Order: sequence, then structure tokens, then C-alpha cells
Amino acid sequence: MNEELNISMDITSIMNNAVKLSAIDLNAKASDGFAQKLAQAQATLRQASAEHGDKVTFACSLGAEDMVVAHLINSLGLNIGMFVLETGKLHTQTLQLLEQLKASSQAPVTVYIPNNEAVVEFVKREGEEPMYKSIELRKACCQVRKMEPLGRALHGKTAWITGLRREQSGARAEVPLVDTSESRVKFNPLADWTWGDVWHYIGTNKVAYNQLHDEFFPSIGCAPCTRAISLGEDFRAGRWWWENEAAKECGLHVKG
Ligand code: SF4
Repeated sequence: MNEELNISMDITSIMNNAVKLSAIDLNAKASDGFAQKLAQAQATLRQASAEHGDKVTFACSLGAEDMVVAHLINSLGLNIGMFVLETGKLHTQTLQLLEQLKASSQAPVTVYIPNNEAVVEFVKREGEEPMYKSIELRKACCQVRKMEPLGRALHGKTAWITGLRREQSGARAEVPLVDTSESRVKFNPLADWTWGDVWHYIGTNKVAYNQLHDEFFPSIGCAPCTRAISLGEDFRAGRWWWENEAAKECGLHVKG
């Protein structure tokens, strides 16, 4: 009996003393050729600025990749404005990071919020959490809270910058560094970076990041539509997890 009690106490003491590993501890690992990828990302951002001046903007989701891009823009001294879509459904941790970014960024940060009347009308008609009822209603919510503000953010811009990476999902496997296939040029400076590269950069440069990444949230969106993932789950498994894989984009990066 006493022996059982001792074993149980040992396990409890091990668990209490266990060191909690951060996202940097778990993920930071530069891939082969990282220095070259970094130089290429910097060159891509310089190119965007040189070719488009104040007609290029950076769509910052406040995810790990986008905090890297924001850091690169600032460290290169580029006057590329960035914007954040504040959907009204973001986690507290994400809102805290937004305040940090606004306070620390030399490049201007503009926050776009949804049209208030449209949100009130949509919520009155469909409820606070329509996203779980059908894919159509989930997309309608994204339309009101993300796509309409995105249209305003991109209005008059000839180019935009994203933190898309090929590794993120099958739908993004072909993402080029510079995408000229649509009327508005899209620059993806981290297209060939690995998840390990992103965290290597964050760790090396002490980049601020969303604390939810330390709670196994690799991809972070709105609170009702994001959950932590388990060991072995796909990178984007925590986004719109109740839908099938093919439907999992909010529209921001879907080709028209
Ligand atoms: S991600 Fe979810 S909460 Fe956010 S706009 Fe889309 S459906 Fe609405």
C-alpha cells in the first residue's frame, strides 16, 4: 500500500516539475539552405516595395509566419504598410499580440473591422455561431467578417504580401514566390520556408508571437474556428475541423 502511494507521489512530482516546452523549443530547426531562403525572402520584399511603392500592402494575420514577415519588413526599413483583419472573433491572446505589433512596428499597421450593421444583421438572422450549421453559413460569416473588410484593405493596391508557405496544405503546395497569375500581384516571401525555418527565425530574432502557439495551435484564426492539434495531426487540422479538407480556406487565398 505504502509502495503504491510512493509511486503515485513520484509521478505527481515528475509531472509538477516537468518543463513546459515552448513552440520555439519544439519547432525551431533551420533547414538546409536557410541562409539562402532568408536572403531570397528579403529580396522578394525589397522587390515588392521597389516595384509597387505605396501600392503594396502586407496582409498580416498575426500567425507565426506573418510575425516573421512583419519583422523582416521592419528590419529592412521598408515602408510597406500592413493591415490586420479584426473579425470581432479573435482570441484574447491574438488581440494582445496585435497591440504589441502596433506599438513596436515602424511600418504602419491598419486594423480593418467588419461593417457593424452587416454583422448585427447577420447575427440576428443566423445566431452567434452559424459556422457549425453548414459550410455555406461558415462561408457567409467569413464573407461578412473577413472578405468584405479585405476588399476595403486591398482597394487601390496593385500588389499584396502574404506569409503563405507551400508546406501549409495541399492547396498551397504550388505557391510561388511571386504570383502574377491574377490582376493584383501576390508576393509570398516565405513560400519555400519550412515550419522549422519560421521558428528558427522567431527564436534567433526574438520575434513576438501568439502565446497560443505554445498551446499546440500551429494555425490560428478566429476563436470559434480554431482548436489545438494533437501529436501527428496535420498542420491545419485545427482550423474548421468539422469540415472536409477541400473546403478549408476562408476565401482570402482562393483563386478566382
Ligand atoms: S473564421 Fe469562423 S468566426 Fe471567423 S469569420 Fe470565418 S466563420 Fe466567422
